[in-house]
Amino acid sequence: VFAEALPEERAFEAALRPKTLDELVGQDRVREQLALVLDAATARGRTPDHVLLSGPPGLGKTTIAMIIANQLAAPLRLTSGPAIQHAGDLAAILSGIGEGDVLFIDEIHRMSRPAEELLYMAMEDFRVDVVVGKGPGATAIPLEIPPFTVVGATTRAGLLPGPLRDRFGFTAQLDYYEPADLHRIVLRSASLLDLSIDDDAAREIGSRSRGTPRIANRLLRRVRDYAEVRAGGHVDRAVAHAALELYEVDELGLDRLDRAVLHALCVSFGGGPVGISTLAVAVGEERETVEELAEPFLVRLGFLARTPRGRIATPAAWQHLGLSVPSDAAQ
Ligand code: ATP
Repeated sequence: VFAEALPEERAFEAALRPKTLDELVGQDRVREQLALVLDAATARGRTPDHVLLSGPPGLGKTTIAMIIANQLAAPLRLTSGPAIQHAGDLAAILSGIGEGDVLFIDEIHRMSRPAEELLYMAMEDFRVDVVVGKGPGATAIPLEIPPFTVVGATTRAGLLPGPLRDRFGFTAQLDYYEPADLHRIVLRSASLLDLSIDDDAAREIGSRSRGTPRIANRLLRRVRDYAEVRAGGHVDRAVAHAALELYEVDELGLDRLDRAVLHALCVSFGGGPVGISTLAVAVGEERETVEELAEPFLVRLGFLARTPRGRIATPAAWQHLGLSVPSDAAQ
C-alpha cells in the first residue's frame, strides 16, 4: 500500500529529505516562485505570505514546509487538521507562537469549522479573541500573536472554505513528477544511502514510482534489501527488475491492489459500470482504500473512468491485464 508513510519509514524519509530549495528535485516552477516569495520577504525584513501547498500525498509538501522554515532560519511547528478539532486546540498552539515562526498544518482541510474561523482571523490580523466560559458568563479574551507564517498542506485545495483559502498569499500546486526527475531522486537517495546503483536501474525504479518521490524511495528501499541479501549489495538493472517483480510492482507501477481492482472491474463485473463500494467488497478492501489509493492512479493511467452510473474499464485496462477487449467495452 502506497499512500501513507508507515512509522518505521519516517526516519528513512527524514534522512532523504532535501533541506534547501536547491536540493529539491523537479517542481521547477514551484521552486522558483517560492524562492521569490522567501527572498522578497527576507529582503524586506518581514515574514512571508502564508503558503498553501496542494497536491497528492508523497510529492513533498512536508519537505517543502521544512525547507521554508530552514531557508527563513525560523522554528517550525508541526500540527495537522485532524489534531485541531476545537477552536481551543488552535488557540493553545497560537499562544505558543514566536515571532517569525512557521506553523505547518498538514491536512488543513480536516480542521473543524470553528478552528478554521479562528485560524483565518489569526492569519489576517495576528490576533484572535479566545472565548472563555459558556453562556452569559462567557468572555472574549483578546490574544495578540506575533507575525508568523502558516504553511498549509492539503490534498485538495477545493475542500478549503473560500475565506480560509483567500488568506494564503501564495498557493503552490504540486504535480506528479516526470520520470527524469524520479530517476534523479532515486540516484540522489541511493547516494545518501551509500548504495551502489547503475543508472538504468535507477531509471527503472523511477519509472515504476507513479510520479511520486515517496514511492520512489520506498521501492528503492525494497530493492536495496534484495540487493544486500541476494546480490552482493550492488543494484544493476536485473537486480532492480527481480526485486520489483518479487514485490509485485509492475512496469507501470501498478501494485497488487491496483491489479486486483482492475481485474475485478474487467472480469467480475464485465467492465462495469459498478459502484466503488461494490468494487471494494470484491477486492476485500475498504472503500476509502480503493478510492484514495488505487482509483486515482488507474484514472490517471486511463484504465478506469468514473461515470454517473459507476466505474467502467477502458480498453487499455483489458489490454494491460493481457485480456482481449470485449466488443462492447467503453471507448
Ligand atoms: P504527505 O502529504 O503524504 O505527508 P508529502 O507530500 O508531505 O506527503 P513528503 O513527506 O514531503 O511528502 O515527501 C515524501 C518523501 O519524498 C520524502 O522522503 C522526501 O525525501 C521525498 N521527496 C519529496 N519530494 C522530493 C523532491 N522534490 N526531491 C527529492 N526528494 C523528495
